[in-house]
Amino acid sequence: MIELVANLHMHTRYSDGRGTHAEITSAALRAGLDVVIVTDHNIWVGDLENYYHEGDRRVLMMVGEEVHDATRNPQKNHLLIFGAGRELASFAQDTRRLLEAVIQAEGVAFLAHPVEKSAPAVHEPDISWVDWNIQGYTGIELWNEMSEFKSHLKTKLHAIFYAYNPRRVAVGPVIGTLEKWDDLLAGQQVVAIGGTDAHSFDVRLGPLHRVLYPYEFHFHTVNTHLLVPQPLGGELVDDRRMILDAFRQGHAFIGYDLPASTRGFIFTAHGIDTTANMGDEVSAERGITFQIRIPQSSGSHPVECCLLRDGKRVKTWRNKPLITHIASEPGVYRVEVFISYLGKRRAWIFSNPIYVR
Ligand SMILES: [Zn+2]
Ligand SMILES: [Zn+2]
Repeated sequence: MIELVANLHMHTRYSDGRGTHAEITSAALRAGLDVVIVTDHNIWVGDLENYYHEGDRRVLMMVGEEVHDATRNPQKNHLLIFGAGRELASFAQDTRRLLEAVIQAEGVAFLAHPVEKSAPAVHEPDISWVDWNIQGYTGIELWNEMSEFKSHLKTKLHAIFYAYNPRRVAVGPVIGTLEKWDDLLAGQQVVAIGGTDAHSFDVRLGPLHRVLYPYEFHFHTVNTHLLVPQPLGGELVDDRRMILDAFRQGHAFIGYDLPASTRGFIFTAHGIDTTANMGDEVSAERGITFQIRIPQSSGSHPVECCLLRDGKRVKTWRNKPLITHIASEPGVYRVEVFISYLGKRRAWIFSNPIYVR
């Protein structure tokens, strides 16, 4: 499989972001991304979807949409849509119809920041997902970088600290999100993705002025790494289809690439005559062998790798680059990797599950 690094969930001037699509593609090229997915609020700017080049480098910018009911207060239930190829904001008031429209348009849908509590110190409301009686979505945005930033803002002083110390923000998904994912996984396949929700906000607090945070900074942080069968060929239609398939199948993991690149992470399951990747199903009959490869970039940072089954830890390994584990029990198996960075244990990698039946 070929690994593509994608940064997704970001806003431009077409909604409440500060930058333009051109600024985003330049920042993505500088950050070395393969794919960026812009998702403005309730507007689909599809004409700009294309490859963008600078020297011998290129990046694919896909244009999706983040749809929510703007008449609702507070504005909960944000849905990220990729690959629908059409404007869908007119369905915003009815989530079920919206999801049907996404399926009809052959797109994929992810529940954005499913848990995002209020931050009274900065007058930000709770915009968690609440409409759980739904079906047809591909997955959830397990890790949203701006939700996490918001969760740190107990006082205005915290806001100032984190505005000036962006590298200290990320520790992992906000409390409750992983539990919610495991609950959902008990009944269905749910693909997890990581988004930055980049806006490049221009923020003023008294005499202080800061950009929260530049697009390029976000692009070095929480990325979704997609596994595809062949390299991007440069044909927009074919490449987009391959990327959407990877999202649909959960052939992906979330990597927090700031402490060290997570490129090269592997989590596979091997049966007698089958190999399963993240997102796949495999039979428990006659046992399976899991293989986990920790990216070498971790260098001297202490790393802890946990294998979980149905949300509970099966085993933990420390500073072990190659892991083999034999299992025979059915369940939803997934991997979490943590890394020590700037004096804290931080989430580094979340695999998508392998479903052992
Ligand atoms: Zn949102
Ligand atoms: Zn957003």
